[in-house]
Amino acid sequence: MFDSLQSRLGGVFDKLRGRGALTEGDVEEALKEVRTALIEADVELGVVEDFIKKVKPRAEGEAVIRSVTPAQQVVKIVHDTLIETLGSEGTGLQLGSPPAPILMVGLQGSGKTTTSAKLGLLLQTKEKKKVLMASLDVARPAAMEQLKILGEQAGVPTLPIIAGQTPLTIAKRALAAARVGGYDVLILDTAGRQHVDEQLMAEAAAVRDLTNPHETILVADSLTGQDAVNIAKSFHTRMPLSGIILTRADGDARGGAALSMRAVTGAPIKFLGMGEKLDALEPFYPERVAGRILDMGDVVSLVEKATETVDKEKAEALAKKLKKGAFDMNDLFDQLNQMKKMGGLQGLMGMLPGVGKIKDKLDEAGLDDKILTRQQAIIQSMTKKERSNPDLINGSRRKRIAAGCGMEVSDVNKLLKMHRTMSDAIKAMKKGGRANPFAAMMN
Ligand code: GDP
Repeated sequence: MFDSLQSRLGGVFDKLRGRGALTEGDVEEALKEVRTALIEADVELGVVEDFIKKVKPRAEGEAVIRSVTPAQQVVKIVHDTLIETLGSEGTGLQLGSPPAPILMVGLQGSGKTTTSAKLGLLLQTKEKKKVLMASLDVARPAAMEQLKILGEQAGVPTLPIIAGQTPLTIAKRALAAARVGGYDVLILDTAGRQHVDEQLMAEAAAVRDLTNPHETILVADSLTGQDAVNIAKSFHTRMPLSGIILTRADGDARGGAALSMRAVTGAPIKFLGMGEKLDALEPFYPERVAGRILDMGDVVSLVEKATETVDKEKAEALAKKLKKGAFDMNDLFDQLNQMKKMGGLQGLMGMLPGVGKIKDKLDEAGLDDKILTRQQAIIQSMTKKERSNPDLINGSRRKRIAAGCGMEVSDVNKLLKMHRTMSDAIKAMKKGGRANPFAAMMN
C-alpha cells in the first residue's frame, strides 16, 4: 500500500528541494501537486480539501519560506498534517473487565473471519489474553466451520457449533461460555453480506445490544478504496464503530481508504491486515505510516521487526564483534539470513529512509529476494579463511569464487564492495557517526 503515493509525493518534494529558496508560488504549486496525488490515491475529496486547507497556511507562512530549509519544513508540515488526518491518538484496543466482547462486522469477503482469528492469535500471544471466538454467521454454514478451522490453526478456542441456532442464541451461549471458562476476551464474528443492507445492520445491532461490546471493529478491504470508506460510513451511522481494521494492506492499494477512514467516520484504524497468514496483523501507527508515505523511513518498525526476528545469541555475538569494528563474510551471511526473515528486500526497502524512490527502479531491474540467496551462494563459495578475512580475496580468488557458484566476477565484486561499505559504515558508527550499514545492501 502507498507505493504510488509515496513515489508521487517524493517527486513533488524533490522538485521543491531542488529550488533552494522558495517563493509562495513554489509552495502553492507543490501543494497543487500534493492535492492531485491524494486524489489519484483515491482519498475522499472532502478529506483532500480539508488536508490542503490545513497545510496551506502553515506551509506558506513567512517562517517557513524564510527558514534555512524551507522544503524540509514543508515536508514536515505535510507529515504532521497526515498524522492529524490519520488520527494521532493511541489506537490500541480498549478492553474492559473480562470477558470483554469484541464485535467484528463487515461485508462478505472483506477478510472478517480471517481477521477475527488473527486478532485472537495476537491477543493470545502478544497480550497473553485468554481468548474465545464464536461465529454468529448462520447465513453461511461454511463460515462457522471456517472460523473453527482457523481457530485450530491459531490455537485459539472457538465456541462449539450447534446447528440451527439464531445469532442471538449463539451470542448468549458464547457470553455464558466465556464467563464460565474464565476468558478475558470474546471475539464475535458476525455475518457478512454482499452489500450493506437493512437485515445485516439489524442483526448486527441486535447482537450489539445483547452483548454490549467493548470494541466494535469494522473489517474493510483496503483494495476497495472509496467503497470501503462508504461502507464504513453506513455502518458507523447505524452503529458507532470503535475501530477499523484494513485488510489487504499488503496488496497494492493506493491508500485512499487508509487516509480517509478516520476523517470520514471518526473511528481510528487500529490494525492492518498484511497477508493471508494468521500472524499477518500489524498495529496501525499513524506517525509511522505518515513517515512511510513521505519516505522518511520507518526505522521504528524496522527496529521492532528486527528485535522480533533476530536470533538473540547470534545478535549478541555480532554486537560484540561490531564493537571491535570487525564484520566479516560470516557476519554478512547471517545478516542476509536475517533480512530474509524480516520479509526480504521488498519488505525492508519500504521501511528504510530514502529507498522508496528507487524502489520502482529496483523492481524494473528485477531485483527481488533471490538476490539475497545469490549473495549467500557467493559467500558459500569462499574458503573459511576468505570468509573471516575478506581482504585476502584477490583477482584469482575472485575468479575461483565466481566459478564455484556459477556467477560472474562482477557479481563477486559487487558483494565485496557491499561488504566493504557495510564494514566501513560499522566502523563509522563505532566512532559515533550515524551511517546506516543496511543502506549499503541496497546499492
Ligand atoms: P470474510 O468473508 O470477510 O470472512 O473473508 P475471509 O476471512 O474468508 O477472507 C477472504 C479472503 O481474503 C481469504 O482468502 C483470506 O485469506 C484473504 N485475506 C484476509 N485478510 C487478508 C490480508 O490482510 N491480506 C491478504 N493478502 N489476504 C487476506
